[in-house]
Amino acid sequence: MTKKKKKASPILNRVTPLHYSYISQLLISSLKEQFSALFSYCLSIMGEVLKKEAYGLAVKDESGVISPFRFSRRETGENDVRLKVLFCGICHTDLSMAINEWGFTSYPLVPGHEIVGVVTEVGAKVTKFNAGDKVGVGYMVSSCGSCETCIDDQENYCPKMILTSGGKYYDDTITYGGYSDHMVCEEDYIIRIPENLPLDATAPLLCAGTTVYSPMKYHGLDKPGMHIGVVGLGGLGHVAVKFAKAMGTKVTVISTSDRKRDEALTRLGADLFLVSRDPEQMKDAMGTMDGIIDTVSAPHPVLPILDLLKYKGKLIMVGAPDKPLELPVLPLIFGKKMVVGSMVGGIKETQEMMDLAGKHNITADIELISADYVNTAMKRLEKADVRYRFVIDVANTLKPSP
Ligand code: NAP
Ligand code: ZN
Repeated sequence: MTKKKKKASPILNRVTPLHYSYISQLLISSLKEQFSALFSYCLSIMGEVLKKEAYGLAVKDESGVISPFRFSRRETGENDVRLKVLFCGICHTDLSMAINEWGFTSYPLVPGHEIVGVVTEVGAKVTKFNAGDKVGVGYMVSSCGSCETCIDDQENYCPKMILTSGGKYYDDTITYGGYSDHMVCEEDYIIRIPENLPLDATAPLLCAGTTVYSPMKYHGLDKPGMHIGVVGLGGLGHVAVKFAKAMGTKVTVISTSDRKRDEALTRLGADLFLVSRDPEQMKDAMGTMDGIIDTVSAPHPVLPILDLLKYKGKLIMVGAPDKPLELPVLPLIFGKKMVVGSMVGGIKETQEMMDLAGKHNITADIELISADYVNTAMKRLEKADVRYRFVIDVANTLKPSP
């Protein structure tokens, strides 16, 4: 029996080697896609499994009340450093964020960006830190690394900068700050703490220190013999006095009342003290200052402060009131004066600030508190009733909720 020859299909007749190559490429690329989807799925499962349980304190809504909170942190990536949090400062920004004063808080919020701790684990590619090192984390935990500001070592202004607390990390998780038992952070955003500094009183330098140091350096207000004013003697203000003195300048504190006069002049080393609500005192000091750091957290009159500046004097705004301030323009024009803003500091200058603090033994004056005192501390901070920074004794007093 002769086999009936199969007729080739008219479609197959028209398939050329080019078509075969095209179809096989399609198949391969679809397989590749499926494989990579499977791979990322496996990675995400592994990530979930490797995530580390954490506990801390969080604000859940605009009441600002802080309560115990359990969450998880990502596994230690190859460029990451994990640290056990020892101490965390309470910045006025934590308070403003807690009550959504600026309108961009998302809850739950674990505050805290003045963090000091000890390294417990490092990723495979970490070169700068080892387990046991004493380190700090400030206001940011990442940035793009390639934009103009990052190349300029000013990651703090990178449009993609990720906040330590209340930001969104690359894996879409919310960043939780230092009111917590441990942290994980890319090594490039970690600051080394000088051996001679006490860790609790050093924590506030991670934000307050760099926030005042950075503009003083950048605007050339660090020259010996200059006269610097510091408005508001709170967390930022008292550290500004210490750095300004270490830089060899003459320092005048400008405060709302006489209450802090003695401490400012004796303990903090300021040269002069003015009560901003006393027009006579303010008038006598007109035109005497080269630069002023304004750290006030609430709306306040700017004109009397501008009047304190000499010709070409600079007013640096670091305090962040929730309402606009009235800015009189004529005194600026007549005196060729400048008003500028500044936000924390880049990593390089924060390390520089920390090393200078080590050299001159500069730390914050603190009230060390236990974790269960945080709500009271926030109430007192609101009334400027702290000398001069609350710091939470995290490792010794923060306990997981049952
Ligand atoms: P703080 O410890 O509360 O100190 C603020 C000081 O401002 C108070 O001690 C008080 O000083 C003075 N003050 C308060 N209310 C006032 C009012 N109504 N009128 C005039 N003076 C008033 O706060 P902080 O932690 O130093 O932070 C200060 C501000 O800087 C906050 O707005 C915070 O959010 C902001 N901040 C900005 C940056 C940045 O990068 N730019 C970084 C950190 C913090 P006297 O008792 O001496 O009058
Ligand atoms: Zn701060």
